[in-house]
Amino acid sequence: MYCRNCGRENPDSNNCCIYCGQQLNDSPSANNQQPIVNNYMYTAPSASGASVAALVLGIAAILLFCFGLLSITCAVLAIVFGAIGKMSGKAGGGMAVAGIVLGIISLIPSVTFLIMVDSIF
Ligand SMILES: [Zn+2]
Repeated sequence: MYCRNCGRENPDSNNCCIYCGQQLNDSPSANNQQPIVNNYMYTAPSASGASVAALVLGIAAILLFCFGLLSITCAVLAIVFGAIGKMSGKAGGGMAVAGIVLGIISLIPSVTFLIMVDSIF
């Protein structure tokens, strides 16, 4: 195999480069990839969690539009979580945008319903 460091050919049986001493097995690159994978695994759930929360709250806001303030609360939270999910720049950005859009859309019937209830009573 060829040395990753100096590019010279070494016998396959060698663990280290006979010219420069560089390790010839894959363990250094595997060790380099491990923290990246761990970092992704660690940060992705929190980022996409906000996006999922935004989407769920946005849907809830629309479904709960007849509950007035509860729906508006869900809508505002959907927009806030959507902004968090979007700004984090991680996975779930589409869900974050959907949550923001759903939150804004749901504000319209919610506020309309509140005004109607106010005008009736
Ligand atoms: Zn070498």
